[in-house]
Amino acid sequence: MKILFILIGLIALGFSARWNWWRLPKKGVAILMYHKIGAPPRNSKLKNLWVSPEKFDRQMRYLQKKAIPVITFAEYYQMLQEKKVPDKAVIITFDDGYQDNYTTAFQVLKKYGFKAMCFLVTDTIGIVNKWHDPATEPHQKMLSLAQIREMQAAGMEFGSHTLSHLNLNELNIEAANIQIAKSKPVLEQVLGKPVDVFAYPYGAGAYNPAVKQLVKPAGYKLAVGIKQAINMRGQEDLFALKRITVRGDENMLDFYLQITRGKNRL
Ligand SMILES: [Zn+2]
Repeated sequence: MKILFILIGLIALGFSARWNWWRLPKKGVAILMYHKIGAPPRNSKLKNLWVSPEKFDRQMRYLQKKAIPVITFAEYYQMLQEKKVPDKAVIITFDDGYQDNYTTAFQVLKKYGFKAMCFLVTDTIGIVNKWHDPATEPHQKMLSLAQIREMQAAGMEFGSHTLSHLNLNELNIEAANIQIAKSKPVLEQVLGKPVDVFAYPYGAGAYNPAVKQLVKPAGYKLAVGIKQAINMRGQEDLFALKRITVRGDENMLDFYLQITRGKNRL
């Protein structure tokens, strides 16, 4: 009998470490970070950056069912300016600009009437993710200009993810500045509208003052990093906004904990 209680206790502890239901819900905006929606290639060493279309659909359906507002960065910026950030809201982001963001994610988003942000690497638009080492995953097709324009016409937002996806912490400051500042007008030329949001590749630079201080003078209004948390109202770091990585191996309990607490595991 005693053994049984100990066993149940251990299972409960294990569950609570893996799924942090005991954290308090946080007030603010959860910025979800996705990369690829689809099935990973068999030899991929980055399988968790792929979320299946079924799972993505289920997550979007959950947001709709629970009436959690899905907002754009333009709306968020306005709310920040007016100090009217709601208790709860979600922003959906995709890093790098893979073609499946159009062929798969965009089709799901349209179904629910949601808009999302894609962070583009300007040098790779219409080709493949050539910065990537194919030893860990074969190159993937990136969004084409025509796809970007169609998504933009439907209200999707686009931001800069630099010219060529280098690690900004490994560059000298002039080279880092070119990646940050030059990608903005290049992208604005493509989109025909201002580009206000920046995403640091690998999150690198978001936590390095020498790099981070380049972003505002380049003309951006907001920037996102990769630290895992909800952007709590009144405590937002506008040039290193926190995000929530949605991993391919997570279930709906993980998703619920992530968007309410900013964390799902220890
Ligand atoms: Zn990236």
